[in-house]
Amino acid sequence: MKNRITDMPSEEFKKQGNEIIEWVDNYLSGIEKLRVVPDVQPGEIKKNLPNSMPDKGESFDRIFSDFQEKILPGITHWQHPNFMAYFNSTSTAPGIFGELISSALNANGMLWKSSPAISELERVTVNWFRDSVELHKDFWGIIYDTASISTMHAIANAKEKIKEYAIREKGLVGSGVPPLRLYTSEFAHSSVEKGALTLGLGLEGTRKIATNEKFQMIPAELEKAIQADINAGYKPFCVVATIGTTSVTSIDPVIEIAKICNKYDLWLHVDAAHAGVIAMVPGYEYILEGVDDADSIVINPHKWGFVPMDCSLFYTKQPELLKKAFSVVPEYLKTKEDSEVENLMDYGVQLGRRFRALKLWFVLRFYGKEGYIEIYKEHLRLGKLFEKIVSEDNRFELVAPVTLSTICFRGKPAGMSEEELNTFNEGMINSINDSGELFLSHTKLNGKYVLRLVISGIRTEEKHVRNAWQVIKNNYESTLK
Ligand code: PLP
Repeated sequence: MKNRITDMPSEEFKKQGNEIIEWVDNYLSGIEKLRVVPDVQPGEIKKNLPNSMPDKGESFDRIFSDFQEKILPGITHWQHPNFMAYFNSTSTAPGIFGELISSALNANGMLWKSSPAISELERVTVNWFRDSVELHKDFWGIIYDTASISTMHAIANAKEKIKEYAIREKGLVGSGVPPLRLYTSEFAHSSVEKGALTLGLGLEGTRKIATNEKFQMIPAELEKAIQADINAGYKPFCVVATIGTTSVTSIDPVIEIAKICNKYDLWLHVDAAHAGVIAMVPGYEYILEGVDDADSIVINPHKWGFVPMDCSLFYTKQPELLKKAFSVVPEYLKTKEDSEVENLMDYGVQLGRRFRALKLWFVLRFYGKEGYIEIYKEHLRLGKLFEKIVSEDNRFELVAPVTLSTICFRGKPAGMSEEELNTFNEGMINSINDSGELFLSHTKLNGKYVLRLVISGIRTEEKHVRNAWQVIKNNYESTLK
């Protein structure tokens, strides 16, 4: 074959494209026949791949066949209905089409000028989503890749609010600012600490606040910590509350936390990455109660919103401070429209910007608010069903209150010490996940090793939840032997 120096010819593209769409359809409709977690050892996939790229271009048939033979066996199937680990991230056909078209356009939304529709559709979809969960209209939003990055930007936004120091001009070290302190609960996601680390606050810059028996931040402990830090010469500047903690989906008391933030003039960021979407459901509006008094919030459509990875919505009431934190405009990025438009590059670290709003727009329109509500109601019903099933079997116990559809439980064979119970439950989850029939993850609560089962995948139905219970019971018995 002669060296290839242009893109794939149109006829070949159509042939391969049709085959790939056919493959995707077969994959998704037959996914239940696959193991959820692959049966591979570390290094096994890499071992079967060459150490260097080919000298000559290869046929796409060959590349795709290698994908099926050598890569797919090492994939954990996040789209599988028996995937009930972490927090789900399931994609859907309109989202897949959005990704495909966005790659075909491959337009860069760094400036309004560099692709006007990207900036404008982002504004429209982000506002649609904000209104669908009834957030205050003062929230201005932007799409980042992940909640971790959204929260990092929230902390940068908060830093810029500290008026008496010239942090933008002089940085943290030169501005004369005392050591900054950020507060979050001991059950907050690790991304909060990572964001603080990235921005130069150091591990000591984050202070973890104790939680109550429902794993919610205790406001009195927060205020005590703030006062102690002020007396010790620190500069408290930000609190991150969580609506839907990763371990148990507990909800921090945002109303009370917001009052404390107001009293001490602190930025309040809310991490609602997983659970925020549930505010769409009539009767569950309380989930976002108090958030209108916060300064910023993150919600991820790529978690419980059926939009493919990655898509995280960050809302702030002070976008001008976010811009102050990040905007640097060299000559080559100036445009004649600058005074009339929003250039999204000004609101974060990245310059290049994918067209994520397209897939979001497709999925929001495909389901509509009523469609989302119906799906969420079913997930919440299945969560309650599983909670009931566990609570009625005296070989098991629930280890945390069930807020939405995250169930934390453990096997509790009679006569075992706490240490033996931890070993037993760790053995049980390993045997469940190794079976390939179900994928669960774990956490530790008050020293107890706990299994987490989450129902938020688009393909999970009641039969899968009942099957999960059967798999768990079988593995309980086999681990006991
Ligand atoms: N916040 C919470 C509450 C989470 O549970 C997670 C991940 O599960 C994150 C943030 C981080 O999400 P991402 O992977 O989008 O950075």
